[in-house]
Amino acid sequence: MSTDTLLSDCRVPVLGICAYSGTGKTTLLLKLLPELNRRGLKVAVVKHAHHNFEVDKPGKDSFELRKAGADQMLIGSSNRRALMMERPVEGDPDLKELLAMIDQSRIDLILVEGFKKLALPKLELHRAEVGKPFVFTHDPLIQAIACDEATQLPADCRLPQLSIDDVDGIADFIQGFIGQWTPVAPAPLGPCCDSVERKQLSVNQGVARILTKVTPINDTETLPLTGALGRVLATDAISPINVPQHTNSAMDGYAIAHGEHTSFKVVGEVFAGHAYPGVVGAGEAVKIMTGAPLPAGVDTVVMRELATETDGVVRFDGPIEAGQNVRQAGEDIATGATALTAGARISAAEMGLLASLGLAQPTVWRRPRVAIFSTGDEVCAPEAPLKPNCIFDANRFSLHGMLTQLGCEVIDLGIIEDNEDSMVAALENASAQADVVISSGGVSVGDADFIKDALARLGTIDFWKIAMRPGRPLAFGTIGDALFFGLPGNPVAVMVSFMQFVQPALRKLAGEAQWQPRLIKAVATEPMRSRSGRTEFSRGVASLGAAGQLEVRTTGSQGSGILSSMVQANCLIVLEEAVDHVRPGDAVWIQPFSDLM
Ligand code: AMP
Ligand code: MG
Repeated sequence: MSTDTLLSDCRVPVLGICAYSGTGKTTLLLKLLPELNRRGLKVAVVKHAHHNFEVDKPGKDSFELRKAGADQMLIGSSNRRALMMERPVEGDPDLKELLAMIDQSRIDLILVEGFKKLALPKLELHRAEVGKPFVFTHDPLIQAIACDEATQLPADCRLPQLSIDDVDGIADFIQGFIGQWTPVAPAPLGPCCDSVERKQLSVNQGVARILTKVTPINDTETLPLTGALGRVLATDAISPINVPQHTNSAMDGYAIAHGEHTSFKVVGEVFAGHAYPGVVGAGEAVKIMTGAPLPAGVDTVVMRELATETDGVVRFDGPIEAGQNVRQAGEDIATGATALTAGARISAAEMGLLASLGLAQPTVWRRPRVAIFSTGDEVCAPEAPLKPNCIFDANRFSLHGMLTQLGCEVIDLGIIEDNEDSMVAALENASAQADVVISSGGVSVGDADFIKDALARLGTIDFWKIAMRPGRPLAFGTIGDALFFGLPGNPVAVMVSFMQFVQPALRKLAGEAQWQPRLIKAVATEPMRSRSGRTEFSRGVASLGAAGQLEVRTTGSQGSGILSSMVQANCLIVLEEAVDHVRPGDAVWIQPFSDLM
């Protein structure tokens, strides 16, 4: 099967990891996957296995149901699902069929382990000690080779060469591979009206390309805790203490040593913040308050409501379990444990946790500096009177709001006149001060020239046509060390493209590890239409239905200029490329606004 046929249905890049057994494919993948995750990439892995492999366990219901004759066994929980099916085929499993089983809308890359002979782009791994020949010498689809120091590559090897132990270098190569990738058969986008040189990309492809160009900020600062809200931790928060510090009581009651006794002599009492000085003997009890440290000699607390105390002797109703109602020292967080990892964004709960450990001066990454401006002769600042035939500038303000919510420092450059020299001056000024420059308007075909010419003088720019609605045109490039985003002009399109493309870039830039847009399933309460081949982001209102399920409706008219729809909405409804219509009762993905608005 040719590469084009094999990968024709793939919406994300597919890379094989190929090597003879014993080279360490899985070992490498185990180190590579965390690194790719850290870089914001979601990865699916396809692995070739022995014909009789088993992931289930005898005795598990799923195993027994399969053995009893379930031809397909789909088992699902709220956070995991597994489909097991018996499909005997001659020879190797059909990779094209396996790839089709992956939910490609949720990932950025598929790594394939162990289909060495198939026609797909591959990274070859080689170790001299394994004593096997090279694959690349007879497989033109090998994209690069990662080998150990002892490997002697032929002098005429023209492939990019990596060290098999350099996980970072291999991750860089993979990010580059994603950035270069184009689908075999681009999604049908309907009649093409824009200039042919524009590249057509899916939302995932656009995001992946952007992320390859983002290097996280490397400057840190140390702040008082109250000033750290919304900032990203630069170092792991290691607990200097046990939480709780002492083993203590979870109840108001009596502390005793669990054993044979049925009545106990009350020998004293202990309050929170104090310690009982003595050792409690068998058959003795100490009255104890919630949070008070457990005295020496006891291990169990019985709640006051079950106790009867007369003449200094206490008896209890009901059974007593050893160790009950006791919180062990370090049970929440032990000394030396990682309470928060670097890359965590500090919200209210993180502030409380850091404070509870006495970590009052967290070290955080510097905030991204983002310059914004609007373009268009018709665009007026809202502080000034509205000129005839003009509109007020909405975009700079919605951008300002979202950037502030993301913890960025905003540099507002106002409205830039529609002429090349003003544009060049504005971009030069912006890129000198900022990590990221964002403009809105002026990137659709009619008027692209300006930003294009200005950027050609100062940096690089790509114009993309993203298979999405709203927000199809997107310009992305670099000016010096700054990244440039040219967002569309329509106010809703600006917000939607910001959420999909600028947000992941800014979060990575800010040092936030592992961020992915939050997607939740909700039941549609009305019919919705989309066009297959593009992702539709409708403004939605999600609410709890009568039966307790999450439901979603649209805000009605979905024109990309109707900004009030963003105000009414509390989420975006994401109708993925494969979806062309939704019926009431169908499940759809939604992206809640909570983080940004
Ligand atoms: P453009 O991409 O420049 O053709 O703009 C598309 C539409 O968005 C036009 O109707 C513009 O008037 C409108 N628009 C552009 N910039 C802004 C802005 N800053 N605020 C509100 N609307 C805008
Ligand atoms: Mg314009």
